[in-house]
Amino acid sequence: VSTSAEISGVRLPLRPGLEGLEPYGAPQLDVPVRLNVNENPHPPSDAVVADIADAVAKAARGLNRYPDRDFDELRAELAEYLRVESGVTVAGKQIWAANGSNEVMLHLLLAYGGPGRVVLSFPPTYSMYPEYARDTLTEWVTGRREEDFTLDAGHAVAQIAEHRPSVILLASPNNPTGTALSLETVDAICVAARDGGPAGPDGEPTAAVVVVDEAYGEFRREGTPSALTLLERHPHLAVARTMSKAFGMAGLRLGYLAGDPRIVNHLRVVRLPYHLSAVTQAAALAALRHRGELMTQVASLRAERDALVAWLRERGLRVADSDANFVLTGVFPDRHQVWNGLLERGVLVREVGPDGWLRVSVGTPQEMDAFKAALEEVAGK
Ligand code: PMP
Repeated sequence: VSTSAEISGVRLPLRPGLEGLEPYGAPQLDVPVRLNVNENPHPPSDAVVADIADAVAKAARGLNRYPDRDFDELRAELAEYLRVESGVTVAGKQIWAANGSNEVMLHLLLAYGGPGRVVLSFPPTYSMYPEYARDTLTEWVTGRREEDFTLDAGHAVAQIAEHRPSVILLASPNNPTGTALSLETVDAICVAARDGGPAGPDGEPTAAVVVVDEAYGEFRREGTPSALTLLERHPHLAVARTMSKAFGMAGLRLGYLAGDPRIVNHLRVVRLPYHLSAVTQAAALAALRHRGELMTQVASLRAERDALVAWLRERGLRVADSDANFVLTGVFPDRHQVWNGLLERGVLVREVGPDGWLRVSVGTPQEMDAFKAALEEVAGK
């Protein structure tokens, strides 16, 4: 289709490098079993829905006014949530939030990236990371992961020395592989990053800001502590979280991070004013009041994940060790054919990661049964 601009012959001044690019996002298809974007398959209970509706109605009475720009109450409640979830005490002034952790991380790149600067990451990893880099005119530099998708700390440290990034993006658990980083690895990277960033105005090295993206952190297995436990040691560490996954609130759009108050203050400079609407703040606070109930699903999703990993391995498939609510499995000689066969049977998974691998989100027991039955038909597994 021709756009009106094309018809009138007016050429729009699209930034070089953006020509022909498609917006990021998995297909949103209306099929019975949706296992493609790592959502929590359990909708909120009636009690949660009622409380959110009530809170939003109250907020609606004040919608003629701009919202609380610094969302202090929400920051305090997110800090309290982290204390209960991970045992780490952080203050409200150490919390930053935005419309999804995607926006939080974009804020980090806006503050610490930019022309002449480097962001370092280790693919296969979350495919939005290079887009934050592109959008902030930051150079995207990648190291590698090992054959089992783990990250070699020595390699990461060498990459820091070589590229002097201002930001290092580390997803743990990683998407699409599910791989968690050990605390030792994160610590070694933070130590190397302490003066591993670009030169400051005085010519002396600055730190690289280390971002540990724990979007799936709540699904980690026993014995894998959160990187939050390292915050006290490393003022250049930021740990990003989201209400989209374990919390089951992907539609709410609320992500956040914990870090040094100086980092938070830098992010406040680059955010748009009133970026968190009064409706979002009210709904997030209401949802957080139900954290106990919402978090009970995490244990069953973890168990469902472990069962799925075992089932796939019994069938001779490779599965990356997963600390998340999804698994990466392969290697299929023709993954598109498998993806398509599943789709024909009403099961939507994600064609992502290295060639031959597919990513499957953990759904309800019924959804997992549907996936298994479909895979048996399609791939003879
Ligand atoms: N980080 C990772 C690793 C993700 O997989 C996702 C979502 N797919 C996000 C961040 C962003 O999630 P949200 O913006 O919904 O918080």
